[in-house]
Amino acid sequence: MNDTIVAISDVSKRYAGAVQPALAGVSLDIRRNEFFTLLGPSGCGKTTLLRLIAGFGMPDSGQISLDGKLLGQTPPNLRPINTVFQSYALFPHMSVAENIGFGLEMLGQPRETVRSRVTEMLRLVRLEGMGERRPAQLSGGQQQRVALARALAPAPKVLLLDEPLSALDLKLRREMQIELKRLQTETGITFVFVTHDQEEALAMSDRLAVMRDGVVMQVGSPENLYDRPANLFVAEFIGEANFWNATCLERSGAGGRFAIGTSKAVMPVAEAQGLAEGAKAVLVVRPERITLGAAEPGLLHGTVETAVYRGSDLVVHAALAGGGELRARLPGSIAAAGLIGTATGFAFPADAVRVFPA
Ligand code: ATP
Repeated sequence: MNDTIVAISDVSKRYAGAVQPALAGVSLDIRRNEFFTLLGPSGCGKTTLLRLIAGFGMPDSGQISLDGKLLGQTPPNLRPINTVFQSYALFPHMSVAENIGFGLEMLGQPRETVRSRVTEMLRLVRLEGMGERRPAQLSGGQQQRVALARALAPAPKVLLLDEPLSALDLKLRREMQIELKRLQTETGITFVFVTHDQEEALAMSDRLAVMRDGVVMQVGSPENLYDRPANLFVAEFIGEANFWNATCLERSGAGGRFAIGTSKAVMPVAEAQGLAEGAKAVLVVRPERITLGAAEPGLLHGTVETAVYRGSDLVVHAALAGGGELRARLPGSIAAAGLIGTATGFAFPADAVRVFPA
């Protein structure tokens, strides 16, 4: 069964007068019922892609289809797609209920249908009893819920969300992340969510696409992108990591042994495909995969400069012998006092390393 709902095929877009294209050959399959996120730094083309899906503008080349049908020139209002923007754009002179029912009225739905759907939507976003209020009488988070209810009311096949939480403070933002995820699961509507916040993307998405300069760098589940970044950009953009220059000393099977920097440390790497002996490489290791090890020649060691206790973990910075830095997240039960200023050995399993050509 083909469970793709939005198929984006080789889409490119350059704005008039721009030197660089906003999108350069983007292909993506977004699946039915999934929470899909477009993640990337400012200017990478996320909003442009969302607007093309919505029908606000046309690709220069390439195609977008919904449920197997090319969208072509179909205007936004005839696409079974709705958008929630960062600015909620509620109608201030209308009540909450009128705001939510607005799209349905426009579609010419009978009054009774609109009324019962509005009641259902108020319940869905947990604003029962607030239908008669004006938007100005609601908090920012409540206004955002109204905007969501309004966009969900006509039961679109796809809901596009362009940084809808970025105007909220951190606490509210966290609450709304959980809320959005719940709404997506309960309605079964496909959500396409845009953010530049990697933590938010990891927390919410079933799958995400990391973009840079109009190009998709990698698509996958949060775990997949975190554990197996396809390139240095994704490794750097998602989560924290150590990046060490290294040289491939020896290949054996899928893996090999790498000398880190100018130190004498030689570390085993489980997967080193594409790197020949003698090749310059960059090793990537997540801080939580590092443990304390023996301070012996040939192993990774350094001097701990700072150790910050955070309850659940101890965040350690060390200057590596032979140059370079190390960041580790050790268990919070390890005493900081005994570590600082001490020459310490560090270890990590061979499968904790991702290696890329330098
Ligand atoms: P942000 O997170 O800052 O919103 P984004 O990833 O959504 O960024 P886009 O808004 O899609 O990125 O912009 C992609 C590129 O296209 C940027 O270089 C931007 O400057 C450019 N761009 C966007 N809109 C226009 C426009 N209307 N005219 C010209 N250039 C534009």
